[in-house]
Amino acid sequence: MIGSTSPIVTQSRGTSDVDLNDTSRCPLGVRCEACGAEEETLVVRTLGCPRFGTMCLTLCPLCASTTILPPVAAATAERLVAQHCKHLGIDRDAMHVALGRT
Ligand SMILES: [Zn+2]
Ligand SMILES: [Zn+2]
Repeated sequence: MIGSTSPIVTQSRGTSDVDLNDTSRCPLGVRCEACGAEEETLVVRTLGCPRFGTMCLTLCPLCASTTILPPVAAATAERLVAQHCKHLGIDRDAMHVALGRT
């Protein structure tokens, strides 16, 4: 298998700035959210959705290496974004503020 997943770049400068792509506190799921594969090398990836915000998904290396988004229902996206807000320790308002800055 190819382990060519590039490391996630974390920016540690500025404590007031929220890094929406920070996955250090995101729990790893048991299988890939896109294809359902149960691998030992799953990774958590963030996914920016302009409508809902940034969410995190557990993906296998194969799915993580593509840019194709898994089909996520609106209600699921809402839930995933809300969960990721909790991982980041922010609320939805703070996320929207952070999104608006980029
Ligand atoms: Zn997958
Ligand atoms: Zn998360």
